Amino acid sequence: MNGPEIDVEFAPELHVFVPRARQSGSVRATTDGVSSLGHVVESLGVPLTEVGVLLVDGREVPFAHVPTAGESVTVRAVARPQQVPGAPLRFLLDVHLGTLARRLRLLGVDTAYESTDIGDPALAARSAAERRVMLSRDRGLLRRRELWAGAFVYSTRPEEQLRDVLERFRPELLPWTRCTACNGMLRTASKDEVADQLKHGTHATYDVFARCGACGRAYWKGAHHEQLEAIVEQALALRAERR
Ligand SMILES: [Zn+2]
Repeated sequence: MNGPEIDVEFAPELHVFVPRARQSGSVRATTDGVSSLGHVVESLGVPLTEVGVLLVDGREVPFAHVPTAGESVTVRAVARPQQVPGAPLRFLLDVHLGTLARRLRLLGVDTAYESTDIGDPALAARSAAERRVMLSRDRGLLRRRELWAGAFVYSTRPEEQLRDVLERFRPELLPWTRCTACNGMLRTASKDEVADQLKHGTHATYDVFARCGACGRAYWKGAHHEQLEAIVEQALALRAERR
């Protein structure tokens, strides 16, 4: 192909998607003279969900800009915190992000999660129908145009994933208000109401209970509480330090 050649410089955060940009920060790309700059950037490997501003020779251009020969393009990472206008902030996570889903719910963040692989088209359709930000490490899924909004999850470690999402979107935190199993809202419950779910020791030891309004699951400050408490404390501390 002998189309126009352009230089494309990527923000350091985006080098993970364009390994050959790691050395110099930029790559030389041949375009076809008709494709948009957004398309060119995407075909170099960067999900557009991760792109903030595009500059050509220092001036901001829309994603629809068609590059011409010799242009020098700068690709900036999406701004943080990222605003998602038009709907309350809520998320949809793919099958690989179960631990992150439970932690977001623990913090009271509205988080839908698919525990089976329903396929990219169905995930994208759900994101659109429920206006949920799709979180995934699957670049192909994040390219789908139907998505309401999307974000790449950069780490494979749940602690870093949670920090990344909290820093990027700064959701309101309401710890201990959601069911970690189904995302339903919790309400306080009497011991009698949850008695059928309690083992004898639990029944004797605890007096404060909650129950999920959607699936009925009972909650109390049980065995894993310290570990969960630590996750909540860290998240609240992170939010306080970013204010
Ligand atoms: Zn539930």
